[in-house]
Order: sequence, then structure tokens, then C-alpha cells
Amino acid sequence: MQTHEINDRFTEHFRSRGHTVVPSASLILDDPTLLFVNAGMVQFKPYFLGDAPPPYPRATSIQKCVRTGDIDEVGKTTRHNTFFQMAGNFSFGDYFKDGAIENAWDLVTKSQSDGGYGFDPERLWVTVYEHDAEAAELWRKITGIPAERIQTRDAKDNYWDMGVPGPGGPCSEIYYDRGPAYGREGGPVVDEDRYIEIWNLVFMQDIRGEKSPKQGGPVIGELPTKNIDTGMGVERVACLLQGVENVYETDLVRPVIAKAEELSGRRYGVDHADDVRFRVIADHARSGVMLVGDGVTPGNEARGYVLRRLLRRIIRSTRLLGVHEPVLSEFSKVVRDAMAPSYPELVTEFERIDSVMRNEEEAFLSTLTAGSKIFDVAVAETKKAGGRQLSGDKAFQLHDTYGFPIDLTLEMAAEQGLSVDEQGFRDLMAEQRRRAKEDAKSRKTGHGDLSTYRALLDQHGTTDFIGYTDLQSHSRVL
Ligand code: ATP
Ligand code: MG
Ligand code: MG
Ligand code: MG
Repeated sequence: MQTHEINDRFTEHFRSRGHTVVPSASLILDDPTLLFVNAGMVQFKPYFLGDAPPPYPRATSIQKCVRTGDIDEVGKTTRHNTFFQMAGNFSFGDYFKDGAIENAWDLVTKSQSDGGYGFDPERLWVTVYEHDAEAAELWRKITGIPAERIQTRDAKDNYWDMGVPGPGGPCSEIYYDRGPAYGREGGPVVDEDRYIEIWNLVFMQDIRGEKSPKQGGPVIGELPTKNIDTGMGVERVACLLQGVENVYETDLVRPVIAKAEELSGRRYGVDHADDVRFRVIADHARSGVMLVGDGVTPGNEARGYVLRRLLRRIIRSTRLLGVHEPVLSEFSKVVRDAMAPSYPELVTEFERIDSVMRNEEEAFLSTLTAGSKIFDVAVAETKKAGGRQLSGDKAFQLHDTYGFPIDLTLEMAAEQGLSVDEQGFRDLMAEQRRRAKEDAKSRKTGHGDLSTYRALLDQHGTTDFIGYTDLQSHSRVL
């Protein structure tokens, strides 16, 4: 079943059950807690928070999502994209747990000839929050799933809140068992590679206080109206229904792998290290196009920096496949063609998207050419001296003279089996800032002291990526 069909069936299932069909929001919303929209519920937050009256009691959407926190998983697990589509249904004070469970189970298990996905109910598992006996009971009653395939989890995994005092509630998840070839027996609590999470249901019922139940904090009240927020991973369902190994081989992602095979002359499925590169390229190319499509441009801060990092990872991965020519334009076209049926703006906006990508690639290729030579020499010297760590001094030189962001140096060093003296690097950065500041003071040019600003920039260059992923995972909404 093709991805567009999976989406259509989801929308139709919920439309016919009284849900208003709401288009995906942009990946960029004005929300200070999030860099990018990372779940379907984000655009509905005002209704969940009671800041605005919901214009409909039920809604459904297929939301574009970006999760930069999953970047290091990409290509290595079978199930993590940086860009993916989350199909969701939402109830604002309308149906609650029983309706959410019934709706989800029905779509997942209904036969394909009846408009469902036709998953074998015998292979489905669910999880519930350890203090949500009500949900466990409803799963048994509504779906007939045996108790052995309902597992409980603690608040860390199965409690949801917005990272701040306010709405919260238990979650339930649906998992599909891919079978013994994919891992260990024992349900999702034992092995999330074999048992793949496809759908998360959030039952918003509580008010949490200063401390989240995830950190052992208490629930301090009950929400006056109870809400439902769910998210189904479209790529994961596609992976299972298309009988492919992972989300990167699904119909909307795989064509980029094919393009990379064509450009490199190497085959996917032959060498593990190459395969990870193929998957990184395919995943990141799609995220890059979707982000630029929604107005992000590469830069040194925040969103722009995430985009820059994604694009640079594509370029480096492609070089490691032996291709040294510019490639982004080739990949962007393939992404456009795959994604345009659902996102027609990619066609009308393509010229702009393409030129943003090409400019960034050009700039990065010259950075790489200059910096890589220095890097290679430094690695060779370190290894010759029996060292296992690249000095902070080298990392600083690469940053200062050749524009290598520290994460690039870290990644390239890791590929060579070396670590980097990050603390040494940071000390040198701080020292440089201090000098710049003194210099600015002593010159008294009459202009504002830009070094503080510069210092912030530098700091972002070194630490922001973790910060943003952290920020995202703290406020992760599903
Ligand atoms: P996982 O535990 O596998 O990382 P999650 O619990 O973080 O997933 P949720 O926040 O519950 O995911 O998101 C709802 C659904 O979106 C998941 O059930 C899954 O199907 C899908 N999903 C989540 N993250 C990704 C991703 N990085 N790529 C593709 N699909 C995803
Ligand atoms: Mg996750
Ligand atoms: Mg999970
Ligand atoms: Mg989940």
C-alpha cells in the first residue's frame, strides 16, 4: 500500500466518523518551546490549553513533522526519520479513551478491502501507563486483545505533558510484532526493534503541577474537559505494509537511495557502512527539501543551523560513497517528484528551494576542501604519536580558520576512531572571545560591542545542537 493510500484511508476513516479534516500546519510555527513542529497536536495546542475555543469537537490531520532529536538514529535504526508524517485524530472534550481505542484499533485491523490497513490482530501489542488500569480494561473489552499482550510502563515512557504545569495524561501505544527474525521475544518492553511502535494515544485528563509526573511529581487536578491526541507514524505503517526492511525503503524515501546508487555506482544492500550513508542521504534530503520549502534557510543559529547540519551530512555521506560533484540538486528533484502529490507547493517553489540548496552546497564544498587537508594531517599525526584524541587546539584551528563547526570535527574524528578534546576546544573559544572583547573595548570605536553577539554565535556553533534536541525532547508532545 502506497503512502498516499495510507494517508487517504486514515483521513477517510476519521472524516466518516465526524472529524474535521485539517491540513498540515507548516513545520515552522510560532512556538517558543519548539524549533520545528514535531507532532500533530502542535497546531491544536491553544484548544488543549484552553486558550481558544476549539472550532470543532473532533479533528484529523496528516502533519509534517521534524524531529532533530532523532538525527543520530537515522540510518541505524529501522524506524527513525528526521522528517516524517504523523497522522492524528483529536477530540476536544468529545470522545475519550474508549473512542480513541476503538477508532485506532478498527482502522489498524480492518481488512484492506474494507478500507483499513489489515494488520493481523494476533501480532499487535499495546502498552498502557502503569497507573491507568482503566485503559488496560478498555483495551481488553473493546479489542479483545489478551492480557499477555498488554504491557505496562512507567511515567517516563507512558505519561505525557507539555513540559510545563498544565494538561497531562497517560498514553497507550500500539506495536506490531515483526517476528523472531527482528529481535527478542517479550513485547515492546523488551525490544522496540522487533516490536515496532506505530501509534501513540494520549489521554489528556490530568493537571500536573510544577514537577512532572515523569520526575515523580503529583497530579494536582483533573481537567474540566478531557481530550484525545493521537499520532500514527505514516512511514512506519508504510514500512510494514510495503514489506520493506525500514522506513528509508518506503515508496517516498527510497527513490533518493536509487538516485544515490546511480550517482555513486555503488549498490544499496552490499556494505553496511554504505547502507547507513544511503539512508542518511535519503532521509536528510527529504527533510532538507521540506524545511527549505517551509522557509528555513541555512545559517549558524537555531533552525538554520539544523538545516545546515542536515545538508552537510548529505554532502559528506555522498562523498564517502565516492561522489565529489555537487549532488543536492539531483536529490532535491527526486524528493520533489516523490512528495509533490501531497505537497504541490514543492513544485511551484522548486526554483527557490533548489537555489538555496545549491548555494549552501557550494559554500560547504570549498570549506570541506580546505579543512579536510588540515584535518587529515592532524589525524595522521595524532595516530602516529599513538594518541586517540584530536587536540582542542586542532579543533579550534579547524573552526577558526576553516569554518568547521565542532560537530563536523567530532563526526569526522569518530569515523577515524578518534575522540576530540572538546573541553580544550571550548576553553580556546572562550579565550578568543575574551580577547575580542578586550580588543573591542580598547579600541573604543563608538560602535556597539559586537563581541558579545559573536560570543553567542560561537557558543551556538558549539553547543546548540544538543540544546535544541533537548529542548525538543523536553517539550515533546507525544
Ligand atoms: P519511538 O519510541 O519509536 O522513538 P516515539 O514514542 O518517540 O517513537 P511518539 O512521540 O509517540 O514517538 O510519536 C507518535 C508516532 O509517530 C510514533 O508512534 C511513531 O509511529 C511515529 N514516529 C515518532 N518518531 C518518529 C520518527 N523519528 N520517524 C518516523 N516516525 C516516527
Ligand atoms: Mg522517539
Ligand atoms: Mg516510544
Ligand atoms: Mg510514543
